[in-house]
Amino acid sequence: MRCERCGSDIHIYDTCNYCGKKICNNCIKSSKRVSGTERAFICKSCWSSMKSRRTYKRVLIKAAY
Ligand SMILES: [Zn+2]
Ligand SMILES: [Zn+2]
Repeated sequence: MRCERCGSDIHIYDTCNYCGKKICNNCIKSSKRVSGTERAFICKSCWSSMKSRRTYKRVLIKAAY
């Protein structure tokens, strides 16, 4: 399949939590663990949007231990 942001061929993708696009590793600006198994991803496009970035930073990280 193709990355929905840059169009390069990818086999493994992650979904941006803010625009819902399936994106490759290159397009992920940042990711973090939200809970034990869940991860939050933000793509480079959403990172440049202050609103999305603030939401991303506000996501609480629940310690897994
Ligand atoms: Zn990409
Ligand atoms: Zn995005």
